[in-house]
Amino acid sequence: MEEINIAIVGGGPSGLQAAISLASKGHSPTVFEEHPTIGQPIQCGEGISLNALKEFNLDQKSKLFCVKEYESCKLYLPSNDVIIGDIHSYSINRDIFDQHLAKEAQRAGAEIKLSTKIDGVQRKGESIIIKTSSEKKHDYKCEMLILAEGPQARLASKLGFSPPSPLISAFEYKIEGEWGDALEFYFDKEKYPFGYCWVFPKKGETNVGIVTTAKERKGRLDKFLEEKKITGNIIKKVGGQIPMNGPSSKLYDKRIMLVGDTAGMVNPIFYGGIRLAMLSGKIAGEVAATNLERKGNGLSSSCKEYESRLKKYDFMKKVNIKCHNSFYGFSNKSLSKIGAVFNNRYINRIEKLEKLEVFWKILKNPSLSRKIKGLYYMYRGFKIARDWGF
Ligand SMILES: Cc1cc2nc3c(=O)[nH]c(=O)nc-3n(C[C@H](O)[C@H](O)[C@H](O)COP(=O)(O)OP(=O)(O)OC[C@H]3O[C@@H](n4cnc5c(N)ncnc54)[C@H](O)[C@@H]3O)c2cc1C
Repeated sequence: MEEINIAIVGGGPSGLQAAISLASKGHSPTVFEEHPTIGQPIQCGEGISLNALKEFNLDQKSKLFCVKEYESCKLYLPSNDVIIGDIHSYSINRDIFDQHLAKEAQRAGAEIKLSTKIDGVQRKGESIIIKTSSEKKHDYKCEMLILAEGPQARLASKLGFSPPSPLISAFEYKIEGEWGDALEFYFDKEKYPFGYCWVFPKKGETNVGIVTTAKERKGRLDKFLEEKKITGNIIKKVGGQIPMNGPSSKLYDKRIMLVGDTAGMVNPIFYGGIRLAMLSGKIAGEVAATNLERKGNGLSSSCKEYESRLKKYDFMKKVNIKCHNSFYGFSNKSLSKIGAVFNNRYINRIEKLEKLEVFWKILKNPSLSRKIKGLYYMYRGFKIARDWGF
């Protein structure tokens, strides 16, 4: 059995960012990734906000992986009214983005073991044993474990954590040609319940996808392409799942932390998860580093700080789930009325006088004024999503 001080399972943004944090504090984490190449297969719309890049000083490196820049995103309602979100954002090459994080982690001193799937995990006294899949048959003994294994959270379940449930399914086409002029989201409660279709143009190609709890996602996406007259050749099909109800209630246990999708670290309104994956990974890495240092000095250690630091952020607030429930609970009729009030406005930039005008329009409309609480949650949740990126 090989001894390592800290194991990170999963080489996505959360695991790689945890590795960067630990390695840049002088530790030697080992990242286990089941695929032979970091960042592949890509399962992503490849949209990210400038705020997210800035938080990790990646805005300086944006040329490496950003392919298109947008000043705002557009949210289309069933009536075709559009709410504008002033989220400065980019479409990226997600594989190159993840590979950049991997290089940073390696440069700082982390080891990345590719084509290495971890199948088993168990606690043994003060240590944790992880086992690779049957072909490789190799066991590792570690002092701490960070689980960054994505939404399925199989190892987390084996250790008694609840999986980040429920998961919502997404399906995407990569299509030849540039369709659309912003990161576009199309909401329709009947066609795409609890979700939306997206059009994220890149250079020479566009990601067009659907996320919804409804079945027959491919058929719905095909219909969307037909309606929007998007006729480019389909280059690739991509599918995946996303935790839909935000951060899980249990994020750590003795010597173990869950990060990224494994911990439900996804914005429950637009289902974007790259930024929260990286933030949770960064904090988990820092807490693990402190714990290893304390242990080296004969002091006790705990992962509680991971949760308490995360809880200071807006995205952990219950208002996000309330926004999710209210917004996805609105009928198409209500969504269209909301569209008529907000049409062509920047929802997050409503100035004082405009706020009064919007409020007055809502009050004058009895079916909307009855939903004033839901509209308030929607406003708060959208504001947080604006700051956080989707
Ligand atoms: C179709 C789709 C579109 C999306 N679009 C966007 C978007 O535009 N913007 C956005 O912000 N978010 C988007 N998301 C969400 C975002 O991709 C995730 O939230 C993000 O990737 C989470 O990062 P992570 O590191 O937690 O997990 P992941 O990126 O899933 O990484 C987990 C890694 O762990 C590896 N792994 C799993 N189990 C094991 C094991 N047992 N042993 C070894 N390795 C293992 C996997 O191979 C994988 O590489 C989208 C998701 C989907 C499915």
